[in-house]
Amino acid sequence: MQDNKSKIKEIKLADRVLTLISKDGKFRAGVIKSSNLSRIAQSNHKLPPIPASLLSRLLTGASLMAAFLKGEERIILEATGSHTIKKIFAEAIQVGEVRGFVEYEANHNDNASISDFLGNGLFKVSKILYNKAEPIVGIVELKKGDISSDLAYYFQKSEQIPTAVFLDVSLDDYGIIEHSGGFLIQALPGASDKEISELYHTLKNSPKITELFSNEMNIEDVTRVLIPFDYEILKNYRVDFYCRCSKEKFVSKLLTLGIDEIKKMKNNNHNELICIYCNKHYYLDEQDFTNLINELKAIEN
Ligand SMILES: [Zn+2]
Repeated sequence: MQDNKSKIKEIKLADRVLTLISKDGKFRAGVIKSSNLSRIAQSNHKLPPIPASLLSRLLTGASLMAAFLKGEERIILEATGSHTIKKIFAEAIQVGEVRGFVEYEANHNDNASISDFLGNGLFKVSKILYNKAEPIVGIVELKKGDISSDLAYYFQKSEQIPTAVFLDVSLDDYGIIEHSGGFLIQALPGASDKEISELYHTLKNSPKITELFSNEMNIEDVTRVLIPFDYEILKNYRVDFYCRCSKEKFVSKLLTLGIDEIKKMKNNNHNELICIYCNKHYYLDEQDFTNLINELKAIEN
């Protein structure tokens, strides 16, 4: 009985993304709750508050963008900075998987403002789509380094689509992510400049999405509060921090190194393989090395 109850609660509080279109066809929007996946990212990578918050925003933004794609189409967002943070990476697949990491200097001032962490840099968006042989890539300069402004700037500059982006993260007293979420609203070709500026004006007074989630509101209720027009829901599905890495995949990559390199790894006891995307550690045992060397010998003959 108790198990059922906690199961129901887990499903109720799971992260979800929702997309919708306005009934007049002039705007589309995505709304996401990304609290759990952000907390998992923070815990996997053992991140201090601000690098965790920025990674969370990027994971949130990537998941929102992926929600407008289909099947296993993907979005990769990368922010490269010149200050404490050198790189933030997030990759989201439309099916509800997202993963990512952040590279930062360990000695940093946690009291600095969030947008000081990246400094000057670039914001890169890659879309991996079914009907395109190559990824579609757009690069803009960082606008503020807070991810929300950078993403909105990318849409305006690179895709020429007026887009309002709100990404938000809340932390507890220990610097652990409590809630994370966001929404974006895009003008479709039928929207007039007047309608767009009126919408922007209305959105200025939107409540913080993390405050809505902290009241245990579900994504449908939060959407009703945030979206200031009549709409029809297009998608509503679960999202999770998920990485498709496996020991087998790592081992097959090692085969490209060649036999001498593998022998060197074995002799130096370099048996640990770490996934940069999810920070999972894999270990090679004696048998793995023997198999690798035998396989390479077979290839070389
Ligand atoms: Zn991984």
